[in-house]
Amino acid sequence: MRALVLAALLPALPLMAHAKHRAADPQAPAKVHRVEKVAEGAYCIFGEGGNIGLVVTSRHAILIDDQFERLVPGLLEAVRGVTDKPIKYLVNTHFHGDHTGGNVVLEKQVTAIVAHSNVRRRLETQQAKLEPAKRGGLPELAFGWPDPKEKAYLAIHLDGTEIHLAHFGPGHTDGDVLVGIPAQKFMHLGDIFFNGSLPYIDVSAGGSLEGLLANVEAVLGFLPEGAKLIPGHGPVGTNKDLVRYRDFLKAIQAHLKAHPGQGGKDLDAAFDHKAWSDFKPLGTFLTWERFFDLAAGRPPGR
Ligand SMILES: [Zn+2]
Repeated sequence: MRALVLAALLPALPLMAHAKHRAADPQAPAKVHRVEKVAEGAYCIFGEGGNIGLVVTSRHAILIDDQFERLVPGLLEAVRGVTDKPIKYLVNTHFHGDHTGGNVVLEKQVTAIVAHSNVRRRLETQQAKLEPAKRGGLPELAFGWPDPKEKAYLAIHLDGTEIHLAHFGPGHTDGDVLVGIPAQKFMHLGDIFFNGSLPYIDVSAGGSLEGLLANVEAVLGFLPEGAKLIPGHGPVGTNKDLVRYRDFLKAIQAHLKAHPGQGGKDLDAAFDHKAWSDFKPLGTFLTWERFFDLAAGRPPGR
């Protein structure tokens, strides 16, 4: 249930362009999507919710995440503005509703939805509470072990393009998958990377500050210079942005260590905000205080 609440809240994040279009209106807003070319055959589609990646090969397209069900018509229009190739695979970087909401519609036109097995498990659990007609869009190709600490890797070879999917252990959730095209130095990091804001850590779904940091370190360990990085939220980033983000996570870790047992409010008050002013709260959804509570491993409401 909480994940559904989260899904409802996330579109309100100030990072998202065109936030004013957010409404209870069931009609899909006309133009919420903006497409940015990131590398050869790789694009970022901004809208409401998590950033979407689009990979185009000579004969097919691959979509990485899909925001919300009501936005799918506009999303497909944005995709058609780039390519008329059919979308063969849809990859989910993790289970949150602002990244998987479109699954239920898109499953009818893609060959398969691909995700970590914990994404399928979590979506299935959520959907058990829905009436049967509203269920659907579960990943058909689920890879990775139920134990999120087990690393997992999958390569997709499509029309000469090699796309790597990797799970480096729990981070933002217990089913995070990073999607990269090594030949293009391109990667979609899902919500492992929030660019320009505090990162949300889903503590109740296996996420942790340590896990987030371990994921980022793993990526920085092999990332070539000049990489193009799509974050789950925020603008397209560079190696420098990811290093800065890693340093921020380390500073938070050190701060928590220096103030053991303190609550979010006190941790916030004692923090050197000046040194990290480029990390903004996500409106009322993720204040500094709440961020510190999550970073300390305290789920909301405790
Ligand atoms: Zn998320």
